[in-house]
Amino acid sequence: MICIPVVAQTTDEAITQIHRASLIADLVEVRVDYIKKPDLKKILAARQKPLIITVMPGHENGKFEGTEQERLELLTQALKMGADYIDVNWDCPALGSLIAAKKKSKIIVSYHNFNETPHNLDEIVSRMQSTGADIIKTATYANNLSDNLTVLDLVEKSTKPIIAICMGAYGEISRILAPLKGAYLTFASLEAGKESAPGQIPAETLQDIYRIQDLKPGFMVYGIIGNPVSKSKGYLFHNKLFKHYGLNSIYLNFLVDDIAEFAADFLDTLAGLSITMPHKQSIMNFLNEIDPIAEKIGAVNTVVNDKGTLKGYNTDMLGALIPLQHKTDIQHKRATLLGAGGAARAIAYGIIARGGRLTILNRTVAKAAALAHELGCEYGSLSGFEKTPTDILINMTSVGMHPTVDESPVDTRFVKNMVVLDGIYNPQKTRLLCEAEKNGCSIISGAEMFIHQAAEQFKLWTGIQPEANLLEEVFACN
Ligand code: NAP
Repeated sequence: MICIPVVAQTTDEAITQIHRASLIADLVEVRVDYIKKPDLKKILAARQKPLIITVMPGHENGKFEGTEQERLELLTQALKMGADYIDVNWDCPALGSLIAAKKKSKIIVSYHNFNETPHNLDEIVSRMQSTGADIIKTATYANNLSDNLTVLDLVEKSTKPIIAICMGAYGEISRILAPLKGAYLTFASLEAGKESAPGQIPAETLQDIYRIQDLKPGFMVYGIIGNPVSKSKGYLFHNKLFKHYGLNSIYLNFLVDDIAEFAADFLDTLAGLSITMPHKQSIMNFLNEIDPIAEKIGAVNTVVNDKGTLKGYNTDMLGALIPLQHKTDIQHKRATLLGAGGAARAIAYGIIARGGRLTILNRTVAKAAALAHELGCEYGSLSGFEKTPTDILINMTSVGMHPTVDESPVDTRFVKNMVVLDGIYNPQKTRLLCEAEKNGCSIISGAEMFIHQAAEQFKLWTGIQPEANLLEEVFACN
């Protein structure tokens, strides 16, 4: 079930939000601690879906300003008025008497920790289970991706109904996976910007993109690893394709700092992965087989788990070359490539293989030099662009990507009479592309490259080659 918390300062405002939330949610939580002079009777009369009444004290990050006695009176009144659920903090001295007085209402006993996911969370949960409450809830802060496993393990082992989520950017996956593993509910925001806790995902995204209410047991998990991943569009693209083709699969964002830790804890449980910066080279240490082209490129952006054998591929090269070849021949053309990271390596390899005359320019010149020596081409620093004759300009640095959208990797006054491809797709039209277009260049956005490389990934994972119109349609509505 999806529960939307309502966070409002007045009873009337809360009622408006209850009505809106009820259109999407299975349950609505009213954070009564946020409301000045709450009118519980009016709130409960407004319910269209079961309501959870929560009056969090300050030490649980709640906003209730009255005395503990006043807080307990509100909770007791909620029970008397027939609230569907009340949420009571696990260390509330009156928990026992609230449970004794509950009649048909259900009591959620909750533990919050805004600093960490403690290693003894299972002990805390067993203590909560012995209270006699109907539902156990833990909301703890994830300081790394592996904290999600602690929480998901609790969900799978719990003998009582349980709500268990990790908060924060690392914890996002628990909000999607916990309900799929049997958690009683997951919390979602009414819309982006209306989160009541860090990391909450909009309810419509959980329903329509992640399809948490449609997937069946045994679903396959795919995803992207990188840092950052929050702006990646892959989850929209691949989940929409999974839905279109009726596949019991989900694609998640994994925010990964420590690739070795990720490989140990997650890698063999996943069906496939997209890899983005900064892990395209380091992932290779954890795979069983690497495709010869990816081996030559020296970077992997796609992992396929083929019945336990982890195979690495690179689809970045085709992602860039397919749209480039729609605009121009590459053979004998002077191609200037900005960047010498994972994506740049793939494209450099492709340009040379198709007879292009390549120059690699990079912030760290030593990296450009190393790649250029490998491939037998020219190299230099980004500031050398002005003096580099160019027919095709390809940006594979992250300069100009959200949030530094005003930046360009090179002085755009010199970007004239060329085909320009920018790998960045957030924003879809970077400053480099805008200025290039003004200067009369033919431009290719990172979105076009993304579509082609993602379609190749999808084909490697599923064996399905998505039709061209479908790809554009799926990306256009992102
Ligand atoms: P990567 O391996 O981490 O490489 C990053 C590159 O950006 C390096 O050359 C790095 O230079 C350069 N760079 C980073 N910050 C810079 C700065 N402030 N000034 C100048 N140069 C800077 O990443 P990657 O995977 O190759 O990805 C690179 C870009 O391509 C990203 O923007 C990514 O979104 C894009 N991309 C797009 C697609 C697509 O489908 N559209 C696919 C793959 C990649 P140093 O060597 O000096 O650090």
